[in-house]
Amino acid sequence: MLILTNLNLIDGEGNFLEGKKVVIEGTKIKDINADPTPANAEVTDMKGYTILPGLIDAHLHLGWNGEPNIETKMLKELLPMTALKAYVNAKNDLLAGFTTVRSLGDRGYIDVALKKAVEDGVVDGPRMKVAGQAISMTGGHGDMWLAPEVTSSGFGTIADGIEEMRKAARYQLKMGADFIKLMATGGVMSEGDEPGSPQLTEEEMRTAIEEAHKAGKKAAAHAQGTEGIKNAIRAGIDSIEHGIFLDDEAIQMMKDRGVFMIPTLSAVFNIKKHGKEAGIPEYAVRKVEQIMEAHLESFRKAYKAGVKIALGTDAATPFNKHGENAQELELMVNAGMDPLDAIMAATKGGAELLSMGEMIGSVEPGKEADIIAVKGNPIEDVSLLKDVKFVMKAGKIYKFI
Ligand SMILES: [Zn+2]
Repeated sequence: MLILTNLNLIDGEGNFLEGKKVVIEGTKIKDINADPTPANAEVTDMKGYTILPGLIDAHLHLGWNGEPNIETKMLKELLPMTALKAYVNAKNDLLAGFTTVRSLGDRGYIDVALKKAVEDGVVDGPRMKVAGQAISMTGGHGDMWLAPEVTSSGFGTIADGIEEMRKAARYQLKMGADFIKLMATGGVMSEGDEPGSPQLTEEEMRTAIEEAHKAGKKAAAHAQGTEGIKNAIRAGIDSIEHGIFLDDEAIQMMKDRGVFMIPTLSAVFNIKKHGKEAGIPEYAVRKVEQIMEAHLESFRKAYKAGVKIALGTDAATPFNKHGENAQELELMVNAGMDPLDAIMAATKGGAELLSMGEMIGSVEPGKEADIIAVKGNPIEDVSLLKDVKFVMKAGKIYKFI
């Protein structure tokens, strides 16, 4: 039994509690009010630290790490090399306090394999929910392959029409996907399309979403333009990723149906910050300049309207690095979110989206001991989360400085 004592705690309701104790037994939190101290317990004094639940990055890609031009990389890199890098990236997420991550599309099922390797104790890493390959239409966002026969090692699997879509979704589930990822619109990192263009149709998405829901799983849509966002919501999607052009109707639809928004502000911010001088493709820089304001406005409006929000970085996009995931909290706060709400989006919100709310997302008895700590009060200064001092996952300490 391990007792962390003399600490401040942000509880599941967002209260800041001083002078608390957390008792950990095995992989779980046993108590947050143990008095007197149980005998035979190992006691660690954490004066000056604030503990909170392990953070959740609900949108990232494990195989890349902020390379300026991912497309070139992906087309030339050997898949085993991408897999080795994915392990390092995931470990960096964990050490940055992100004890759970959701991969929304990776090459050749490396996310599925890495998740299994972590679960089996082969390597250290965060808890994972994985999408396997994202599904896109021919020539859509995620289809950067010229020949269809190479797509099995690619980022996306290609499907056109209802029957191909059903097969593609079933195949992802067979391969171990926890989520189905669908490309509802064009995107920033795809040459030759526009974020506003709808791509997979409502019927195609409905087919894949049905297959996911039948298996008790969820579906997420890369959705940037308004029409594609609404197609995905009408098709029954569980989360809108990016959500760049949200109008009032889309926001209302998301609210009514409990659809999450994962804003991924870091993706846009880092492309804008580094620009084409740093080697980012010109088309991506141009598109970011066109969408950035609308994106921030959509995020603010959705937040004010009470749309459910989970934190996601889209780590992997240019200069958006694994291990720097907490930048997203800072960006959400700078865009107008209350710091405590940003922390909740990164913990409770993510846990609900990942269907892991019973297990993780708050520090309370009975939950898994996924706990991080910072020096000081992150509700007063959310940027403290960029410098996490203590990381515990399932009762095991991975970092304590
Ligand atoms: Zn993404």
